[in-house]
Amino acid sequence: MTAVPTPVEILRWLQPRQPAILERLRAWVGHESPTAEPERVRALAAVVAADFAALGLRPALHPGALELTYAGEGGAPVLLLGHLDTVWAAGTLARMPCRVDGDRLFGPGVYDMKAGLVMAHAALEALRALKVPLPPLTLLLVFDEETGSRASRPLTEARARAAYAAYVLEPGAEPEGGLKIARKGIALYQLAARGVAAHAGVDFEKGASALVELARAVVQAASWSDPASGLTLNPGVFHAGTRANVVAEEARADLDVRAWTAAALAHADQRLRALRPADVRVTLEIAGGLNRPPMEPTPASQALAARAQALGRELGLELPLARTGGGSDGNFTAACGVPTLDGLGAQGAGAHAAHEHILLSALAPRTALLAALLAAGSSAPPTRQLGDALSASGRPLPGIEARPQPDQREGGSGERWPRHLAAP
Ligand SMILES: [Zn+2]
Repeated sequence: MTAVPTPVEILRWLQPRQPAILERLRAWVGHESPTAEPERVRALAAVVAADFAALGLRPALHPGALELTYAGEGGAPVLLLGHLDTVWAAGTLARMPCRVDGDRLFGPGVYDMKAGLVMAHAALEALRALKVPLPPLTLLLVFDEETGSRASRPLTEARARAAYAAYVLEPGAEPEGGLKIARKGIALYQLAARGVAAHAGVDFEKGASALVELARAVVQAASWSDPASGLTLNPGVFHAGTRANVVAEEARADLDVRAWTAAALAHADQRLRALRPADVRVTLEIAGGLNRPPMEPTPASQALAARAQALGRELGLELPLARTGGGSDGNFTAACGVPTLDGLGAQGAGAHAAHEHILLSALAPRTALLAALLAAGSSAPPTRQLGDALSASGRPLPGIEARPQPDQREGGSGERWPRHLAAP
């Protein structure tokens, strides 16, 4: 067996190949892939599948995702997770072309997250060229992440349950490109009130305003927001009534609820469902619920993060640990009990915004980090969480021993996450 190269040796292999890596990135950005146009997403999937097949990965097209598997040389399986869709409508490239300005490469979807996908390709290319033994890999690239992953979620969860760890290729946390080890859970609700319509001048007392009652409920729910604890309830949409001189018969509102813990989301859910209109002639119905469970840090995910930080330091990368209120498919894998490390994609800024870009200088070092993590993957699994992964998948995984690791007891080398996470 060939000795595993150091992260710096991997970086040295990558650096002279940066032009080819960027060429691939430009090509993939050139295939616009809005979630709402599945045929465009599948066209990109075909290009991506061919590029990964050239590295020896076996592609399989599912209704909601492209799956690429690599048999590996042994050890526990690793899940690499990404999405092919972007929030950008077809035609955006015409007014927002892929362009370089200094250290920044701009383009729709380049940061979220086509650069992350290209990095995974380059990392595997390096590892294959350097003949590094790898664990079995599943690269799952879903088609609908930007709209909630409804179609792809069951597949993501099934592959996660069979993996010992999930690496998510979403962008790093801004501005330093930090590793994301916590994401808020998200619950989405639709509130609907129905009252009694009446003439505002002739029959005002006979009316029962759905608008007034739903407004009361929504203002009350919003007042439970507690930014200090991370709980937020955002009524982002409100529709009601027909005319100013009519007591409103119908009203509806959409509510986005987020929190760091499943317990906080469950508590907010209870309170929402207990809301009652003051006017008994108005009915209030609540639909919806949990969309993405929170990604809560675990000893095993922190051990993975500590390993990534240590490897990053060898590459000159200082990677803070971060948490974010935004969701990703990492929420699903973490909720399956699988150690999840998110934010391993590009460093940059402007996801979903006109200034979306990546930093070119960070591309090769972060790709080397991803490669080093994969190379280390089969030799030192994060065992603490494996009990959960094993019981969830219901079948034994090869090459795994359930024993605590020293760096899990100590929280890993370097800085521990609570210091960052506790910051207001
Ligand atoms: Zn994304």
